[in-house]
Amino acid sequence: MIYRSTRNSNEAILSCGAMIKGIANDNGLYVPDEIPLIKENLVDLTNMSYRSLAFFIMKRFFMDFEDGELKDCIEKAYDHKFDSPLIAPLVEKEGVHFLELYHGPTLAFKDMALSILPHLLKAAKEKLSIKKELVILTATSGDTGKAALEGFSNVEGAKIIVFFPEDGVSDIQKRQMITQEGENTFVAGINGNFDDAQRGVKNIFSDMEFGKKLHEKGYILSSANSINIGRLIPQIVYYFYGYLKLLKENKIQSGENINVVVPTGNFGNILAAYYAKSMGLPVNKLICASNSNNVLYDFLKSGIYDRRRELKLTSSPSMDILVSSNLERLLFEISGRDYVMIKEIMEKLQTDGLYQIPECMRENLKDFYGGFADEDETFEGINKVYKAAGYVMDTHTAVAYSVYDKYKQETGDNTQTIIASTASPFKFGRSVCSSIGIKTYGLNDFEVIDKLSKEAKIEIPGAIRSLKSKKIVHNNKCNKDQMKQSIEKFLRV
Ligand SMILES: *Cc1c(COP(=O)(O)O)cnc(C)c1O
Repeated sequence: MIYRSTRNSNEAILSCGAMIKGIANDNGLYVPDEIPLIKENLVDLTNMSYRSLAFFIMKRFFMDFEDGELKDCIEKAYDHKFDSPLIAPLVEKEGVHFLELYHGPTLAFKDMALSILPHLLKAAKEKLSIKKELVILTATSGDTGKAALEGFSNVEGAKIIVFFPEDGVSDIQKRQMITQEGENTFVAGINGNFDDAQRGVKNIFSDMEFGKKLHEKGYILSSANSINIGRLIPQIVYYFYGYLKLLKENKIQSGENINVVVPTGNFGNILAAYYAKSMGLPVNKLICASNSNNVLYDFLKSGIYDRRRELKLTSSPSMDILVSSNLERLLFEISGRDYVMIKEIMEKLQTDGLYQIPECMRENLKDFYGGFADEDETFEGINKVYKAAGYVMDTHTAVAYSVYDKYKQETGDNTQTIIASTASPFKFGRSVCSSIGIKTYGLNDFEVIDKLSKEAKIEIPGAIRSLKSKKIVHNNKCNKDQMKQSIEKFLRV
């Protein structure tokens, strides 16, 4: 399978090359030449383990990997590091199915892909006989950073650099990152928001001179953000997994459509659901849930993407994003792969801060439904489900739940629905507590977690318990215009 850039059809590259490079030279994102169809009858797949299914799906995209290589990566990724043997359990509450994607080592759905990415990159490097050291450069809205650090720390032949918005992540998210051990890790808070961090990283990737300099010093830059197809493709697996589980439990019939609700930031997770649908997964609506930063909601309604607004800091920080990078890949597909137009509108977004898509493209967005939940609705969602079912959602999942609630009221659609449940409530303990009426005034972060655990009767995940005794090892602050200099200092180039 060949990968090309969304902005230029000339460059053709295999998956291992696309993973190493992360982003194309023309700043476009790599996309597979075609989205493979699953021709097998899904009913015959219901007994597959998460790992077997992962191989079944990923081998169609990563065809340049040998079966053994890919299986090895999958086995190393989805093992006892996950606190559920199912990897992604599906839980039914209040008439909807929560696909819990937060049972990995850092308690957010980013682990679903970032636990395998380092192994894929390592294998890709060997296949391409690259001797240089990989420098993984990552901007994070909170969860990617820790998941990438966890995945890459002490991986031979790689260094990992993470920039996070100093005031834009939760206390626990920050704590998880600045206590990260590993000689090869570098973490810095920037005085800006996630968009600033992401823009800085993209600029560094397109800085040819800097790339050349790093090359000469024995380094090669790569990315752990969802712009990397090595992250995107593994996320397709769990949508099939959730569907197969519903089939197995006779909650749906063979061929029956489901809805999928995804709390969305950078548009990576929901794009994976769109790919799954394109591969033949019976999906009715892809429900794109935003928080108060509702750029995508406006876009789905009007066809105009307009980032010219203040970024709001919310209780779902991993979705505090105005420029959703992976939307570019969707636009590429629904434009009939018109890379000339994609280049044009993406440049317009950069220079003017907005673009409009033509009517014919809007037609192709009908699989999507956009909604958003403000802070009050999010907290109400958490409270409602807790009171009714004793089930505790994190703030991101609650955004999705609240949007789904509105969708159902608006449409009366009773299709069986899966909500992508993206983080453990303990990562956002303070907001969760206040939503369900647990007082946290005067308590420190760990006391908040203890109280949440006791009152809501849910067990504290090991990964959070161990955080308490960890030393803070990263104290770096970085000006958002000085990211390159920070990297140079860390790499001593
Ligand atoms: C990253 C993240 C999201 C948003 O996912 P995207 O792929 O960026 O759209 C939602 N919830 C949580 C908890 C996250 O960490």
